[in-house]
Amino acid sequence: MEWNKGALLYEGKAKKVYESDDQRYVIVEYKDDATAFNGEKKGQIKDKRRVNNLISAKMFGILEERGIPTHYVKTLKDHEMVVKHCDIIPVEVIVRNVAAGGMAKKLGIDEGGDLIPPVVEYCLKSDSLSDPMINDDHIRALGLATEEEMEIIRSLSLRINEVLKEVYLKAGLGLVDFKLEFGRHEGEIILGDEISPDTCRLWDIKTGESMDKDRFRRDLGYVEEAYQEVLKRISAL
Ligand code: C5P
Repeated sequence: MEWNKGALLYEGKAKKVYESDDQRYVIVEYKDDATAFNGEKKGQIKDKRRVNNLISAKMFGILEERGIPTHYVKTLKDHEMVVKHCDIIPVEVIVRNVAAGGMAKKLGIDEGGDLIPPVVEYCLKSDSLSDPMINDDHIRALGLATEEEMEIIRSLSLRINEVLKEVYLKAGLGLVDFKLEFGRHEGEIILGDEISPDTCRLWDIKTGESMDKDRFRRDLGYVEEAYQEVLKRISAL
């Protein structure tokens, strides 16, 4: 089947979503634009669109092989993929294996401590409110998702964590934490969005260095190089 981009449906901070000729599918175009601190810091990471698209495609493929339903259908171009059109649940799911970032700051703890078992957090997807943290009760009371849907989402998130930890470890990267988004497609809850150094905190196993968007957020330098290195290692698996 030939895939043609139709009307722009949505433009986010890191991706554009277009209609395809088949309404069950949409085409996602990744962007080099990078933002942090809810859009306060803006910039570009050269070639990020290719890196994030190809890493996401690889990860979605591996997850599908392990029985996790995702929106991924096909890679169209280096920076474009076809995905299943889904109704995105406006809840960001964060899974943490190691204390870092927002959690370390909020709780006044050092970064680097192992979290056993992993911590699952939910945030309301809202730029204007800076994605506030919410709990299961908020999600149900606000009608964002049902109890049954949240059970599926939590269980899928923990299974995804196990798979991603294993895959990144093979690439010499420790999976500190990451963010997921889920949607409804033809009555099923599936994984959406992306899995990339924009959405995962990855620490090099040997050096402990950040190999993800923290290099951009914290002005650590070698941002593009780190993204390229993650793609290189993941592609070699
Ligand atoms: O900032 P915080 O520590 O809460 O982020 C946890 C993880 O979720 C990080 O890997 C971060 O990159 C990711 N995240 C994201 N998009 C957001 C919030 C967090 O990808 N809006």
